Amino acid sequence: MMSLAVSAHEQLAMQIFEQERFTETEVGDFIARYPELESLLVASVAKIPAENGFTLKLYSEKSNDVYIIEKSVAQTVMIKTFLPFEVTNKFFEGEIRGTLYETLKDDLKNERIARQISEAFKEDFTTTRGLKAGASYSFEVIEYLDNGEPVKFGNVVKASLFVGKAVSERVLQQNLETLEWDLLPVDPAKNEKPFYAPVKMSRVSSLFNLARKHPVKRRIQPHNGIDFVAKAGTAVYPALDGVIIAIGRAKAKGKFILIEHADGYQTTYDHLRKFTKGLRVGSKVELNDQIGEVGRTGYATGAHLHFGVLRDGLYVNPLHLVKDYTFDQKDLFEIAEAEEDSAE
Ligand SMILES: [Zn+2]
Repeated sequence: MMSLAVSAHEQLAMQIFEQERFTETEVGDFIARYPELESLLVASVAKIPAENGFTLKLYSEKSNDVYIIEKSVAQTVMIKTFLPFEVTNKFFEGEIRGTLYETLKDDLKNERIARQISEAFKEDFTTTRGLKAGASYSFEVIEYLDNGEPVKFGNVVKASLFVGKAVSERVLQQNLETLEWDLLPVDPAKNEKPFYAPVKMSRVSSLFNLARKHPVKRRIQPHNGIDFVAKAGTAVYPALDGVIIAIGRAKAKGKFILIEHADGYQTTYDHLRKFTKGLRVGSKVELNDQIGEVGRTGYATGAHLHFGVLRDGLYVNPLHLVKDYTFDQKDLFEIAEAEEDSAE
């Protein structure tokens, strides 16, 4: 095994040539052979001492190219190769201090990954602002190894943010518009969304947001669900068949119902004006059973339905899981979709 002194942070090839004191003639020769070196970003450098000099390996950040320079008293030679790297999945986690971007840049010394991950979450989270104490991240990234030594990171395959009891997740997927691989929310095809809208809603007024300033309490508190605009008294339906596991009144949620469904999912319906008579813990509810009415109990600035989805006990973004229509509007929407498809 070679003894690598790998310095793993991004820098320009030209900076490395300067640090390693290559002469102008040597650098001129390198660039004559490989013009891309003038602007090449290097993920890491390995220096291997040899009898009369050393070998330097420059690992390109963007491709699998490796530039190998052998320097001895007699000569300096550069070749470019394409290494069959070994790969492994590496897991990182940590607490967020200030912004996500600064934290990741600090913890990883890799700007590309810090930027990529914080960009990926900007829908759920204001990346320029700090999160409340105790927020944390975790992610999994491909690591490339050369002879068993880690030399650089590849794609981030999965990333999660945890704020209080909420989690936001992104998974590496191909963007069907740009054909690039991006960190995207798990967004199953429309008809695979398991839940129906709990009200015949007009629109969603407030999104799942891990860094929202609470409108009443005026401090940063994650918004663990989405708000449906609806008049007081509008009928509320279960998003899917399930069993009521909590029904009652809480300070912030007001009158609320918590329903358990299959596959580790739970849904919550908050700020209700009233419950449908006869419902209690253990009641089985089906899609077309009204469970209550929209209201403004608890911390609410006006009547609306706050709807939350938990998976394995953590809040997830309902937008990626809820269809645009209620159960009884199903035929209407699915016929419209079928007509659209056949028109194409
Ligand atoms: Zn809400």
